[in-house]
Amino acid sequence: RDAVVCRGVGKTWSAGTDRAHVALRDVDLDVAPGEFIVLLGPSGCGKSTLLYLIAGLEDTSDGEIWAFGDRVATPSPDRSLIFQETSLFPWLTVWQNVSFGLSIRGEPAAARKEAARQALQRVGLVEAMDKRPDELSGGMRQRVAVARALAMRPKVLLMDEPFAALDVQTRAKMQDFLLDVWRDSEASVLFVTHHIDEAVALADRVVIFTARPGRIKTIVPIDMPRP
Ligand code: ADP
Ligand code: ADP
Repeated sequence: RDAVVCRGVGKTWSAGTDRAHVALRDVDLDVAPGEFIVLLGPSGCGKSTLLYLIAGLEDTSDGEIWAFGDRVATPSPDRSLIFQETSLFPWLTVWQNVSFGLSIRGEPAAARKEAARQALQRVGLVEAMDKRPDELSGGMRQRVAVARALAMRPKVLLMDEPFAALDVQTRAKMQDFLLDVWRDSEASVLFVTHHIDEAVALADRVVIFTARPGRIKTIVPIDMPRP
């Protein structure tokens, strides 16, 4: 069974009095469990929109999205979205930030702290548990954001240029770190970037969005063996 299935997915944004804007048209995409897919393409071609739709934060205008056999209609902890600068709560400690989603789920405090510790262990930040976000570097904050997502044990990680704000060296370290975390998480990843080197470093499969006249988008999958 596929992790995510998109069939004929289209999205038309209608913002205020502006003309309707077609962001995605007729997208078919199948994501296998544990697969790492990178979405590449020029800016404005609808990559973020697709992640939003899969996250269940927006409704499709056309077509259907399925996750593990269920029609996607609303957000779920199974599908976790991480942005370029995912905001942590500045007044909470690192472990409180990581366990925040679990408190929404109603888990007791002791269980939340333990889950936060385990997630922070996986991103190598247990020592920073009691620090506040402003005491951390940008790369460390993104690792906390990844830990927060992992604590929810998502089946699909949706990552929208998560390392774009980082310098080249930190980005390379974050890529290695993400691959390590991903290998033992069994989650599928959909990762948006506009760096081809990042796509090559990370992907099982690269999906390229190409902008066409008339704003019709074509998706071309390219299979690449992992070195
Ligand atoms: P990408 O992630 O590939 O840069 P986006 O998905 O962010 O592309 O945007 C695709 C198109 O949809 C863009 O033209 C953008 O302006 C438009 N768009 C994105 N989000 C919204 C929104 N919330 N309301 C209206 N238009 C939007
Ligand atoms: P099961 O009976 O095992 O739940 P389904 O027929 O519901 O099987 O679904 C089989 C697979 O096909 C699932 O992975 C589901 O996501 C996908 N799927 C089911 N219906 C549709 C549909 N209308 N369009 C696209 N994918 C679908």
